[in-house]
Amino acid sequence: MDRIYLDYAATTPVDKRVIETMVPFFDGVFGNPSSAHYFGQMAEGEVESARNQISNLFHSPGYEVIFTSGGSESDNLAIRGAALAARKNRGADRILISSVEHEAINKTAHQLQNEYGFKIDKLRVDNNGQLDIHYLEEILDEKTALVSVIYGNNEIGTINPIVEISTICHKKGIIFHTDAVQAEAHINIDLQQIDADLLSISAHKFYGPKGIGALIKKRSVDLTPQITGGKQEGDFRAGTHNVPNIVGFAKALEIKSTRNNNESLRLSKLRDLLISEVLDSIPDCQLTGHPTNRLPNHASFVFSGIDGNELLITLDMAGFAVSSGSACKVGNPTASEVLLALGINQQLAMGSLRITFGRMTTEEHIEKILDTLPIVIDKLRHGKGK
Ligand SMILES: *Cc1c(COP(=O)(O)O)cnc(C)c1O
Repeated sequence: MDRIYLDYAATTPVDKRVIETMVPFFDGVFGNPSSAHYFGQMAEGEVESARNQISNLFHSPGYEVIFTSGGSESDNLAIRGAALAARKNRGADRILISSVEHEAINKTAHQLQNEYGFKIDKLRVDNNGQLDIHYLEEILDEKTALVSVIYGNNEIGTINPIVEISTICHKKGIIFHTDAVQAEAHINIDLQQIDADLLSISAHKFYGPKGIGALIKKRSVDLTPQITGGKQEGDFRAGTHNVPNIVGFAKALEIKSTRNNNESLRLSKLRDLLISEVLDSIPDCQLTGHPTNRLPNHASFVFSGIDGNELLITLDMAGFAVSSGSACKVGNPTASEVLLALGINQQLAMGSLRITFGRMTTEEHIEKILDTLPIVIDKLRHGKGK
């Protein structure tokens, strides 16, 4: 059976050019970048040139790039690191996060509330999943340690008005973090323009290796390190550098930034085709997230009378790799909090489906899933799925 991968928001295959760039750093230039000798210095030179390259692609002279093990660690360092530092420096003990964050933000914030004595408030979103700006303006105060709002949503694809949010936070002098892990894969982010204080990215979402990412931090922002030990990464993140991954990360970002515009246009045409056909051909279904202001490769739906996990398994057996909401939710029979935050009811939210495309996706793939999906939904609704 031909299998079709339609889950690029979960991860992407590593670009061959990225693999080639990485190979010499496993055994040739293998030194520890923290070592003072020749072998160490060779490796350090590569780490620093990757760092500069990444920094330049974000137009971020006022920022520093902190390498981490990926999006989750960047989010942890941003939220816990900034919250602890803000409390120490100015007594702030409140954290504002949107109600549609990735679990890496959500659980970190909840831990800070339950075990560190912080108070979290969730920021409202509208039915399309975009932040309610007026509500943010209303409740933001000087007791706030930081605000965190996702840039491009992994579950529903919605893109947030990041510049406006950043401006509101800065008017009150509050640190603003954005999880740009999904957005970064499709938008060439200019930090001069969006002016976020902290931004999380992860290489495996844009054809780079897994286990590497960065927290890009405005130099003026203080963080309490979350991994303590050696002096790597300006004392913000201890641990011997993963040189092959760092070099591969920079290469993946470089490739991505040269092809983004055309690729986004191609993907958004496929997305719009899929969305309009699904809504036309399947009764009792809804698009989730913003109808137009969404990630170019992202289509997400809810179907009434359907169990999302069952739908995912059935589509997998038919050769389509998709997701029900978030990859982390497989086997978890509760409705997604993100979907509930949009005002979708519990029953409907259980029947969610996320289809995300990438470089290998063709119009033929979209046509194939459009042929299969209505039949599968109909069968599952009439109990003939098993
Ligand atoms: C994938 C993802 C993460 C986690 O990144 P990892 O590198 O897999 O840890 C965080 N936030 C968003 C929005 C994501 O899509």
